[in-house]
Amino acid sequence: MIQVYNLNKSYQKDSSAVRDLTLKVAKGEFVYITGPSGAGKSTLLKLLFAAEKPSRGQILINGQNLTRMNGKKIALMRRRLGVVFQDFKLINSRSVFENVAFPLEIQGKKRYEVSNKVYQVLKLVGLEHKIKRYPLELSGGEQQRIAIARALVIDPLVLIADEPTGNLDPDNTREVMELFKGANARGTTVLLATHDRDIIRRFPRRVLTLDQGRLVRDLTP
Ligand code: ADP
Ligand code: ADP
Repeated sequence: MIQVYNLNKSYQKDSSAVRDLTLKVAKGEFVYITGPSGAGKSTLLKLLFAAEKPSRGQILINGQNLTRMNGKKIALMRRRLGVVFQDFKLINSRSVFENVAFPLEIQGKKRYEVSNKVYQVLKLVGLEHKIKRYPLELSGGEQQRIAIARALVIDPLVLIADEPTGNLDPDNTREVMELFKGANARGTTVLLATHDRDIIRRFPRRVLTLDQGRLVRDLTP
């Protein structure tokens, strides 16, 4: 599903956030990306969902080379990826329904299809009763579950999450991890950056460890 070859990213001259990364992730895998702060986890994820451009190297997603695509093709590819952030990034002036519907509306889906799909995915995250609420009326854990619903509503090729539990207490962390596990059990490829070892211990899966931009370990339990 994901192939990365000799990937490099420098934000500034003579310092690299990501160095010579080569890795593959198969369809349906669940992969953690871990390592100390500044190791390059966020940068790697940003490169994968094309929010940053590599300095060098290749990224293929579902066999398509991101680094050879024009802006339009990249935009189309990005619509097929589900992304979740530490700080949720919901649109606070829009209702839960509107937030989750947004990626489908961009895809030009018909209104009844949008409604059905949004309701379905809200049910999946257990928040269908909050459909008319606004993000700031919800707890942090609920906001993150809405953000996960928004990422899943498009049936993404890959679900990419950057420290999704970083702002959550242990109970909410567990609930959010259950959602990622569930999505993965239904076949979604998941890439999850975290420095929380407890999470990895509770739900052991393949772990890629970065340090100073390099891949220093790739362990499958
Ligand atoms: P992590 O997610 O593991 O904490 P990051 O990918 O955020 O690591 O950062 C890797 C390195 O790249 C760090 O040294 C960080 O300071 C640097 N970096 C990240 N984003 C930028 C940016 N937009 N501009 C300049 N340097 C950046
Ligand atoms: P966002 O606000 O969604 O994070 P970005 O600033 O990351 O948007 O990207 C703005 C636009 O640039 C988008 O249309 C996106 O498709 C395009 N884009 C992002 N990354 C790349 C890239 N590596 N090469 C070309 N276009 C890109």
